[in-house]
Amino acid sequence: MKQPLFLKPLFQERIWGGTKLNELYGYEIPSNQTGECWAISAHPNGENIVKNGELQGKTLGQLWEENPEVFGHFESDRFPLLIKILDANDDLSVQVHPDDEYADEYENGELGKTECWYIIDCDEDAEMIFGHHAKSQEELVKLIEEGNWNKLLQRVKIKSGDFFYVPSGTIHALCKGTLVLETQQSSDTTYRVYDYDRPGQDGELRELHLNKAIEVTTVPHVAEKVESATAKINGGTITTFVEEDYFTVYKWDVQTSLELTHGVHFILASVIKGDGMLITEEGEFPLKKGDHFILPNAIDTFAIKGNVELIASHPNNKGGHNYDMANTTREMANI
Ligand code: ZN
Repeated sequence: MKQPLFLKPLFQERIWGGTKLNELYGYEIPSNQTGECWAISAHPNGENIVKNGELQGKTLGQLWEENPEVFGHFESDRFPLLIKILDANDDLSVQVHPDDEYADEYENGELGKTECWYIIDCDEDAEMIFGHHAKSQEELVKLIEEGNWNKLLQRVKIKSGDFFYVPSGTIHALCKGTLVLETQQSSDTTYRVYDYDRPGQDGELRELHLNKAIEVTTVPHVAEKVESATAKINGGTITTFVEEDYFTVYKWDVQTSLELTHGVHFILASVIKGDGMLITEEGEFPLKKGDHFILPNAIDTFAIKGNVELIASHPNNKGGHNYDMANTTREMANI
């Protein structure tokens, strides 16, 4: 299996969604409140289908079961990651996600949700909620009970090109005017802490999950520092944003041409800007913004030509934690 697998995106309507997924990426969206594009997913709540080649028509979940060689026999009981683009036309609820252990016990074997965001685009003075100011669990409970959100929630300014790593247990929310590419564990479990007292699609307030949220929130908030590693080479730039237990995430910024190589099980990639050509031993595949694909295990050397930006990632198996980002970046760039 030496062909890249292009996937058909799926869309989810959300009360905070908008129309940017159509305006910027040309997707046919179900309504003007479309919040999420599920781009690479084998989660039962939304599975993508392969669009091309001999595996055309298979769901990603089927592929994971039936064609493990595509993924280099990566050790995991399910496809481990989920890639989305989110259009926050309004504020998302303030929320927190559980870790693997908690989700396994209380959410029927779901994975936990550690996630990260690349800000594709945002309004000039856009912000996000990232972390909280409570020093103890008692203070967290007190501020939540009082509804003292201004005191509890930490707001940070954002700009396009920023990257945020959001480990499970981090209170967070995307705010109005933000378009994000999210790389996350394959999980759909969210505990809502605060929803701005606004009605949902059915006119009712959406459910909050305060007890669970309090149980899983990390207190005090720990701001995990992620410093990126960058390699400028002929034809473009490779940035490694994060290399952690669950995933490594890159940006491939192609100015003319990048030749890349990797030693991992498989790679996920999303074209966020521009267009170009993916060149493999088997042939050439046109790329345009809004395309999402998987490079199977058998494609370990390839080139991308054009003026095009991609966010790419691969899963890691939790436990190692001996990562060396600079080295990973150099290896990928083959220098
Ligand atoms: Zn989240």
